[in-house]
Amino acid sequence: MFEDKIAKRILELPPYLFAELDRKREAARARGMDIIDLGVGDPDRPTPAHIVAAMQREVADAKNHRYPSYEGLLAFREAVAQWYKGRFGVKLDPKTEIVSLIGAKEGIAHFPLAFINPGDLALVPSPAYPVYKIGTQFAGGKAHIMPLAPENGFIPDLDAIPKKVAERAKIIYINYPNNPTGAVATRAFFKKVVAFAKAHDIIVAHDAPYSEIYYDENHKPMSFLEAPGARDVGIEFHSLSKTYQMTGWRIGFAVGNAAIVSALGKVKTNIDSGLFEAVQRAGIAALTGDQKCTEESRAVYLERRDALVSGLKKAGINVKPPKAAFYVFAPTPFGMKSADFCGRLLDEAGVVTTPGVGFGPEGEGYFRCALTVPVARIEEATERIRGVMCEI
Ligand SMILES: *Cc1c(COP(=O)(O)O)cnc(C)c1O
Repeated sequence: MFEDKIAKRILELPPYLFAELDRKREAARARGMDIIDLGVGDPDRPTPAHIVAAMQREVADAKNHRYPSYEGLLAFREAVAQWYKGRFGVKLDPKTEIVSLIGAKEGIAHFPLAFINPGDLALVPSPAYPVYKIGTQFAGGKAHIMPLAPENGFIPDLDAIPKKVAERAKIIYINYPNNPTGAVATRAFFKKVVAFAKAHDIIVAHDAPYSEIYYDENHKPMSFLEAPGARDVGIEFHSLSKTYQMTGWRIGFAVGNAAIVSALGKVKTNIDSGLFEAVQRAGIAALTGDQKCTEESRAVYLERRDALVSGLKKAGINVKPPKAAFYVFAPTPFGMKSADFCGRLLDEAGVVTTPGVGFGPEGEGYFRCALTVPVARIEEATERIRGVMCEI
């Protein structure tokens, strides 16, 4: 019933690529197979105790029970400003340059509604987090794909964008540290993006939820706003999900150019009613509390990354360790199609991975493993993958 009434924006969505894998996973589970899930980018470790304790306190306080303010508690936005100053040396005005989000995904998905008219263009990387493209399409816009190639360090080649496209584009999306590739942007690239945006009058939307998950203290990921002039052209999306293992809590924020932030805020005041204030107060505890928990997370992911990379190498998969984020993006063996290879890993080894093609056609030939299971399970997974490799 009502199938004939489904809107075009839904009918035009790409086929859900993981449906077949989901089916295989459930079938394997039903067979009693022990599944190791390296598929989802969802931290397995709990939210740090001091953040949970703050939530327990705040949820009991009736002052938090009413509709929250649209733009977020000023105290939350001040905590964001303080964190940005401490971490990146970037000074933000909590009143005009910060807006709270119900997770970064919410902000990214709604962002195009503020700027994209039907037929407008956005520059979208591929492989990438799917929401940049889908958000653009939901607003009636079109995505011009910027391929991320390994030989460019998975950084888009701005010089390859046709001049006509650049003139028409309204938004350029970038994401570093990058999901799914684990690439980190250089200061030079961010500077180039600012120059490109200024030359063509384009808004930069930088998605940075993995800024705190990195493996080299000497190459900490930068905020886009550290680049000179970035605040004239850009907005940066952030999330507490990955930094503090808070994916289930739904808390993020966007910062940057006051006019861009305000336009996003206007969309949101007409769609949602803000973020539960108890969660915001727990977010303040996260951002202003001891950051040792992030250090511990980095140590955990580093150990897992090294176990996965060495295990995959032993299995004969030629993989480079990522610089940041908690994913390993590895080439499929013998040029196999990513969905075929991931399907075999699931059927024959009970190991769930994500086919690169799920992040766009440019991700074909790769598969993504999330570092969201303990080392012993990663070792078990790579041992099993080695078994499958012997059969291919
Ligand atoms: C996880 C993720 C997000 C979404 O984070 P939430 O705050 O949980 O909505 C956004 N962008 C990328 C690239 C991600 O991997």
